[in-house]
Amino acid sequence: MWTTCRISSQLSTIQSLRSQYLKKQCRWFSAKSTFLNPRTSPSPTTHLHRTTTARQSFTSQNRYFASPFSAFSNPKMDSQVNGANPARRLVFFFDIDNCLYPKSARVHDLMADLIDKYFAEHLSLPWEDAVRLHKEYYQNYGLAIEGLVRHHQIDPLEYNAKVDDALPLDDIIKPRPELKRLLADIDKSKVKLWLFTNAYVNHAKRVVRLLEVKEYFEGVTYCDYSAPRLICKPHLESFQKAMKDAGVEKFEDCFFVDDSYQNCKKAQEIGWKVAHLVEEGVKSPRTAACAHQISHLEELRKAFPQVFKSEQALSE
Ligand SMILES: [Mg+2]
Repeated sequence: MWTTCRISSQLSTIQSLRSQYLKKQCRWFSAKSTFLNPRTSPSPTTHLHRTTTARQSFTSQNRYFASPFSAFSNPKMDSQVNGANPARRLVFFFDIDNCLYPKSARVHDLMADLIDKYFAEHLSLPWEDAVRLHKEYYQNYGLAIEGLVRHHQIDPLEYNAKVDDALPLDDIIKPRPELKRLLADIDKSKVKLWLFTNAYVNHAKRVVRLLEVKEYFEGVTYCDYSAPRLICKPHLESFQKAMKDAGVEKFEDCFFVDDSYQNCKKAQEIGWKVAHLVEEGVKSPRTAACAHQISHLEELRKAFPQVFKSEQALSE
C-alpha cells in the first residue's frame, strides 16, 4: 500500500514537471513564432514596419537573409555577418566611378566614346543615331546597357569586354593618398565600408586595385551583367540588394556617397544618409538630391562625423 502510494506520488510529480516543461516550451515557441513572423512581429522591435510601402515590401522580402555574398571573399566580413561578432555596424556605401576618383580623370568620357562605338557597330547605326540612342537609354534606364539588353538582346558580358574592360585605366587611375587617409580614418569597429556600383565586378576590382584601396572595403555590390535581369541603381531593388549583400537591415544604418543625382535622390527617399558628390566645375542641381551636397570626399568628415574615428584616436 505504502509502495503503491509512493509510486503514485512519484508519477504525479513527474507529470507535474512534464506539464511545467511543456508549458514553458509552448511559451518559448509562441514568442519565437511571433518574432520570426514579420506579420506579427511587434513594431517596437523594428523600424522596418513603418513608413513607405517600399520599406514594408523590403521587410517581407529581405528581413532574414542567407549568408552574404562578397566579391572580395573577405573572411572577416563573413564571420561578422554570420554572427561571430554580434555588434551591429553601420555600413558606408561608396560609389566607384567619378567618386573614388575624380570626374576630371575623364574616365566617363572615354567610356562614353566606347559605348557610342558599341552602339554604332552592334546596332549598325550612323554615329549621330548611336550617340542619341545611347543618351536616351542612359536617361531612361540609368545605364546604357540596360536599354541594349531590353531592346536588342545583346550579350552584356561581351559589352563589358568591349567597354569597361577596354578602358585604359592603368594609365589614368593612380593611387590617391588623400583618399587612403580618408578611408583609414573611418572607424571600422563601427562602420563597414562597402562598394556599390553599376559597373560589372571586373571593373570594380580593377579600379580599387589601381587606387590601392581594396583593403578598406569588405565587399562590393555590382550590376551583375551575367544575370538574366540587370539590377542597377537607382532602382529600389538595387538598394535592397546592396543592403542584403552588406548584411544591414536598417535603412538609417546606411550611409552613401555617389556622384549621381538620381542615385542619391532614391537613397535619400528610402531613408539612407546621403551625400551627393558634385565636383567643382560640375553644374550644381537646381534642387538638392539629398541632405548633403559635397564638392570633395573630404567633406564627408563634416557631413558624417559619427562614422570617423575620434580626434583622440586620430592623433594617436
Ligand atoms: Mg558614379
